[in-house]
Amino acid sequence: MEANITERRRQTRSSIYRYLYETKEFCSRQSLSLALGLSLPTIYQNLTELMDGGLVCYSGETQSTGGRKANGLSIVPDARIAVGVSITENRLRFVAADLRLNELAYRKVPCRFSSNISDYGAFLARELELFLEESQIDHGRLLGIGIAVPGAITSGGHHIVLAPTLGLRDTDLEELTRQIPYPIFVENDATSSGYAEWFIRGGQSSIAYLSLENGVGGAVMVNGAAYAGDNRRSGEFGHMCVEPGGLPCSCGRHGCLEAYCSARRISDDLGITLKEFFDGVENHVWEYELLWNDLLRHLAVGISNIRMALDCNVVLGGFLTQYLAPYLPLLKRYVAVNDPFAKEIDYIQLGVLSRHAVPLGAALHFVQEFLSTV
Ligand SMILES: [Zn+2]
Repeated sequence: MEANITERRRQTRSSIYRYLYETKEFCSRQSLSLALGLSLPTIYQNLTELMDGGLVCYSGETQSTGGRKANGLSIVPDARIAVGVSITENRLRFVAADLRLNELAYRKVPCRFSSNISDYGAFLARELELFLEESQIDHGRLLGIGIAVPGAITSGGHHIVLAPTLGLRDTDLEELTRQIPYPIFVENDATSSGYAEWFIRGGQSSIAYLSLENGVGGAVMVNGAAYAGDNRRSGEFGHMCVEPGGLPCSCGRHGCLEAYCSARRISDDLGITLKEFFDGVENHVWEYELLWNDLLRHLAVGISNIRMALDCNVVLGGFLTQYLAPYLPLLKRYVAVNDPFAKEIDYIQLGVLSRHAVPLGAALHFVQEFLSTV
């Protein structure tokens, strides 16, 4: 009985907090009472608790409601902070984010990944402490550390099944995270960035996220959760065949999307940086234009296959995407050729989190956990 009452009170407080978190409108005690069907004394009591806990504050706005001025209310975004870490073969990235996934601090550490995972774990723990110190993160507000790795991991996040770029196979993650004294969550990197892009778009129920970096990967987000598949290999768009018998791929087969559309294809084939490549494309360097056109045509095949299978928006992310905007109309024309349904290709979107989507998505795990338990 007592427990039921406590739980009911928590749910009421939670519904008030969630409403303030989600609403874009001006919000006062009166409008909360109307919207949630709760009495003013109940609203007042719960707001007092939320304000005492530092989670809600007056927004500084006022609005007139029938002669009286009502004070606006809002959540306090940095009442809690989550940290995201992205591990790749040649760098570590840290990001601190508030409850709205605003970036509060960022740090990049160039370093080679070491297959001596316990040594690397100690290095990671030290660099994390440095980041927290430098960014003056209050430990009392820290929710946890999300870690994104470029590999397939088991559902509990305790084990790496395979991470080719890190040279890991069947590896226990305990070794990596043991020396970090905060709550930890480990996720695949493409799933993390897909999660962040889904969240920041607010309201889109499902997206397919296609990440274009040195590897090509992705994630399928359905109603705010990653669709993992039976073997946690859903969203492996990089190894969809787009040209049977075509270019060799890192997976050992031929004709995969990754073989055609990875950033590595540009840097390895031509031995130049992406910036140099796109400057060349813009200046009509014939060889560069030819490669870029071939990449776009195969990307279009990949995108239309994803669209045919999932019938949702396809969000393009990863560092190659920062150069894509001028070529989006051409890419859409190529996609239109393969799409028997759409009159207009309005389902391709460019990622908005640009280069920090991976660590932000890792941090997002703890933000969502907090929002579901507040
Ligand atoms: Zn492949």
